[in-house]
Amino acid sequence: MAFLEIDGLYKSFGQTDVLKGIDLVVEEGDFLVLVGPSGCGKSTLLNTIAGLESVTKGEIRIAGERVNELKPSERDIAMVFQSYALYPNMSVAKNLAFGLEMRGVPKDERDRAIQEVAEMLQIEKLLNRRPGQLSGGQRQRVAMGRALVRKPQVFLFDEPLSNLDAKLRVDMRMEIKRLHATLGTTIVYVTHDQIEAMTLASTIAILKDGVLQQFGSPEDVYNNPSNLFVADFMGSPA
Ligand code: ADP
Ligand code: MG
Repeated sequence: MAFLEIDGLYKSFGQTDVLKGIDLVVEEGDFLVLVGPSGCGKSTLLNTIAGLESVTKGEIRIAGERVNELKPSERDIAMVFQSYALYPNMSVAKNLAFGLEMRGVPKDERDRAIQEVAEMLQIEKLLNRRPGQLSGGQRQRVAMGRALVRKPQVFLFDEPLSNLDAKLRVDMRMEIKRLHATLGTTIVYVTHDQIEAMTLASTIAILKDGVLQQFGSPEDVYNNPSNLFVADFMGSPA
């Protein structure tokens, strides 16, 4: 089933046109990886899906419902950022609980959700620490945990691993793959790392200057690039 649908999406900041007519369909449970060079509009696209940026023209639908006018908190979406964006003065447990608290989830239910997610991400022993007392990899686990506790229908990841060193990046990549396999959530994942894209994606979308260049399975995009830009970007055989 088409779960996340984007129709003729345009986004401009003043005179600058950043997204220029994006059409995209993400199936339920799909792992869509959005790739493209720096400045091509990847974060802007995620931000419009999450409701952090308004839309200039076009429509975004989740499970068939138009969400353009909904606030971020009204969309069943969680986003994980490159910079973690954890609350520095709150314990890990509080960071995980915060979004649930805001939504009025009762304490026993919150505690249960936190325990479940902490086990899943192996951060049980860190629950009483502050973000400042964690390593980069641990912080990223907490940031993912904070998104997971809400059990959103759609996960948006904006280059979540780019602040981690190479070894940790590979570990976390496998972790994210495992979580997706376990939970079956719909994911839109932004990266500029072509290997990360090939490893994680069930579908790849390639963006250049606010225009989608190609959309398809990793094998198809790699083997049958639709233009030189895609071939070059994916490192396709000549
Ligand atoms: P990417 O994530 O692919 O690197 P972005 O979506 O962050 O690209 O940015 C795409 C373009 O939009 C860039 O030229 C950037 O300068 C511009 N842009 C992004 N956000 C804003 C903003 N709030 N105001 C003005 N320009 C912006
Ligand atoms: Mg970006």
